[in-house]
Amino acid sequence: MFEKNISILGSTGSIGTQTLEIVENNPDKYNVVALTTNSNIDTLINQAKKFHPNLLVVNDSSLKDELWNKLKEENLNNIKIASGQEGMIQAGEMAEAELVVVSVVGFSGVIPTISALKADKDVALANKETLVAAGEQVMRLSHQSKGRLLPIDSEHSAIFQALMGEKNDSVNKLILTASGGPFFGKTKEELYNISPKDALKHPNWDMGNKISIDSATLMNKGLEVIEAHWLFNIPFEQIDVVIHPQSIVHSLVEFVDGAMKAELGLPDMRIPIQFALGYPQREANNFERLDLTDFDLTFKKPDTKTFPCLSLAYQAGKIGGSMPCVLNAANEQAVYQFLAKKITFLQIPELIEKVMEKHEVIKNPSIENLISVDNWARKATDENIT
Ligand code: NDP
Ligand code: MG
Repeated sequence: MFEKNISILGSTGSIGTQTLEIVENNPDKYNVVALTTNSNIDTLINQAKKFHPNLLVVNDSSLKDELWNKLKEENLNNIKIASGQEGMIQAGEMAEAELVVVSVVGFSGVIPTISALKADKDVALANKETLVAAGEQVMRLSHQSKGRLLPIDSEHSAIFQALMGEKNDSVNKLILTASGGPFFGKTKEELYNISPKDALKHPNWDMGNKISIDSATLMNKGLEVIEAHWLFNIPFEQIDVVIHPQSIVHSLVEFVDGAMKAELGLPDMRIPIQFALGYPQREANNFERLDLTDFDLTFKKPDTKTFPCLSLAYQAGKIGGSMPCVLNAANEQAVYQFLAKKITFLQIPELIEKVMEKHEVIKNPSIENLISVDNWARKATDENIT
């Protein structure tokens, strides 16, 4: 008898594959019931051979027949397949799943997260863009759902752990730590000619392309400030960011009496993933341990002049309504254009700011409103490329 049946949305990515490592290390605790990819069907099939899910989903519907033919060749045609957003929703709400790991990237996480919460599943959320774009709607649903919303993002996992056993009104401030990314300490002049290859080299974490660029621009921390605002119901004025290049302290909570609690560890995403999968149980593992004497821990103020994305995110978060959705969509589009070498590194924040300026805020947007706002902001980003 397994303890938990899990569905992993985005199983072929960085968080998805690390989630499967946890499952593999704990064969009698977790059983995989669904795996999904955007287009990487070969990896998906290899994962299916190992984990025997009930359902496989390829988001890119044009690959559905190819997936089916390849499964037949492997004698795996007892596994159900689905595609597109409908398939992603199915993987989020399927009866067999008890916990849904949302580790897809970008706005594509919003709809499946909503489906999983509506179906009363526990949701382990890595996909921060969901809470940035639709934080209010998702939190409302999570309060109505019998399922729990558990953070995987390391900073939020740290805060979640620091808050365990504490009362809401004991919190004075959340302090998110940021590594500073590969360009910490650089001046704007030094960032003119940054290539995607340079920007993808994160000093401490090995992650998917989009979040690696977000870490280099500091937008990742900006998105995390908005994520923390919604997850922990804390005003933006009480959320601070400090640069901590060693990535050992994964974030802190300052309480009203001046005491601070933090969670520390090596930069290893498997720890917060395992915590979310097993919650409320802590499981033993054989991951490398932190030796505190190996590190000098330092903390510095962020340079928001050189890295304006962090300020843009605070601005969007404080404006609220549909503005964070615009920030998120413009950022996604700008990051993809930077990776495609269509714009420079410094154009990323410039474009986001321009698109935010053009947006007429919708105060209490519905999910349908957010979907159109997301589309509009992507188009507006492209139209503003000079
Ligand atoms: P990756 O790019 O490595 O993986 C993304 C996954 O989502 C892949 O399985 C990908 O499929 C799938 N996918 C991509 N686009 C779509 C789409 N439009 N619809 C459905 N599925 C899609 O990303 P990461 O694992 O690095 O990050 C995932 C999320 O977790 C992000 O929101 C990120 O911010 C967050 N996060 C990541 C951390 C990390 O260490 N990596 C740390 C904290 C948070 P395919 O393989 O076909 O591309
Ligand atoms: Mg993080």
